[in-house]
Amino acid sequence: MKYYDPLELKKNSYDIVIIGSGAAGTALASTLSKSNKKILILEAGKQEWKEESQEIYSGYTSGYNHGDLQDVRIRQLGGSTNCWGGACVPFDPVDFELTENGRQLWPIKYDEIRPYYVDAGDFYGIGDYFDVKKPPQIFRQKITNLSQKYWLVNDDKKLFIERYDKLVLNNNLIDLCLCANVTDIKFESFNKISTVIIENYDQYEVKIKADKVVLAAGGLETTRLLLNWSEKYKVFDKIAKNLGLYYSPHIDIRTGSLIAFPGQVLESDSIPLNAQTLATGFFTLDFKQEDQQKFLNSQWTLHRKKKIIRGRRFWKWPRYFVNEMSEKETKLIKYLSTESEDGEVYDFVVMFDQTPTSESVITLSNETDRFNLKKIKLHFHIKNSDVDKIKNTYLEVARLFGKANVGRVNIGNVTDYLNHNEIGNSHHTGTVRMAQSPEFGCVDHNLKIFGVDNLWVCSSSVFPTPSQANPTFTIMALALRLGKELLNENY
Ligand SMILES: Cc1cc2nc3c(=O)[nH]c(=O)nc-3n(C[C@H](O)[C@H](O)[C@H](O)COP(=O)(O)OP(=O)(O)OC[C@H]3O[C@@H](n4cnc5c(N)ncnc54)[C@H](O)[C@@H]3O)c2cc1C
Repeated sequence: MKYYDPLELKKNSYDIVIIGSGAAGTALASTLSKSNKKILILEAGKQEWKEESQEIYSGYTSGYNHGDLQDVRIRQLGGSTNCWGGACVPFDPVDFELTENGRQLWPIKYDEIRPYYVDAGDFYGIGDYFDVKKPPQIFRQKITNLSQKYWLVNDDKKLFIERYDKLVLNNNLIDLCLCANVTDIKFESFNKISTVIIENYDQYEVKIKADKVVLAAGGLETTRLLLNWSEKYKVFDKIAKNLGLYYSPHIDIRTGSLIAFPGQVLESDSIPLNAQTLATGFFTLDFKQEDQQKFLNSQWTLHRKKKIIRGRRFWKWPRYFVNEMSEKETKLIKYLSTESEDGEVYDFVVMFDQTPTSESVITLSNETDRFNLKKIKLHFHIKNSDVDKIKNTYLEVARLFGKANVGRVNIGNVTDYLNHNEIGNSHHTGTVRMAQSPEFGCVDHNLKIFGVDNLWVCSSSVFPTPSQANPTFTIMALALRLGKELLNENY
């Protein structure tokens, strides 16, 4: 059943309560709806976008330039899928091998999540991601140490808001309640939640009994709720020292360009795979675990400009670029260069992974929202060594293009770009990290909060690292994996 206000709710007790109806909540609910459990999805927003809901997302940012916290997500049924690009791409196996002081950052391996990427493809409607027969080819030739990859978008099924009627109407076991702002929880014993407190916009309070609770309120909001609750409940002491730390939104850089020789770039636009699915090619620098001291994993897309650089001007680029290279490499590039050819210009859009740093952090301000919950204070920091790694990665990509004689790269001014542009946006990772133990994170490998018997987190906030990949395919894969876990009788 669908309820438009918490005061309308007919039942007051559920087996599983899901807080949030974005990509995470939807994927989880779809799995759980196949069971005989009583499920309730609590969604703070309404069916339509409303200012009174969105303003709850206001907060403060500092450090590197970050998008306004009200603009980088949506507080409405379907969450941020109401405005997302829909691009789905899995993390790389190497992401799960990254280490911090010799310790594996992810407590799970790529092989554990891979089958759920296949399920997520099915759920989202793009089919088996790994079974795409003809992915777009960006470059005519294979370039040593660069991998060509692709992301998939299902234009028909991008808006998750449209899935809810199908999910909840005609199903007596699954309820959805709108205008249900979760503000608090109550415990039946020290570490077991008994009740979830919700308030509508007139601030009427309703109490829901819950056997299991999943926080799927988005990367930032999940963290905010937990930070607020950890000020009240000692049970969160176990995770308090890690909660809010290691924030990373992907370092989004749009500087530099490839001036390609004619015919070298085959496809920089999206191509339709079928009636509703589009594929877009991108490339990554081949990245191995031992490279993590030198480079960052990164996702590069090419955006074609109408401009053509005529032969003589094009020739200037290698000179500019080779200044940054060894004499041997300079000679090689000069040897490979062809003075007479024109160049097609493609701007780079690059998303970088980030080395976790505890200086990049979400805390609470003293200002509260209408429900008396403290607002977010977000400080976005990037290690200086990561700035060097970004420059190294640019140089390496430039060197590889030069060597393969695909074209020449104008690196641009990375430091300048980082200091003067919005480089953090809508991918909110870290802050409730998944880890082997509470010493290093907040949730275990099954996404359960350390120290609480019946509270799970399902959002990108559990990612120990952001990867080069857009987050939502992995959020959905983790949600489907969690759904299976929650139906496991051991819990
Ligand atoms: C412009 C834009 C483009 C993007 N493009 C892409 C892309 O191409 N590919 C990609 O992978 N990702 C993309 N993203 C990111 C993607 O949208 C998010 O990663 C994804 O939607 C997160 O899903 P979620 O369910 O974890 O959180 P959300 O979508 O944020 O959903 C959380 C839900 O919880 C609700 N909620 C919050 N607080 C409470 C509360 N107290 N009580 C009850 N309910 C609550 C919210 O209203 C919301 O519905 C984009 C984001 C933006 C903003």
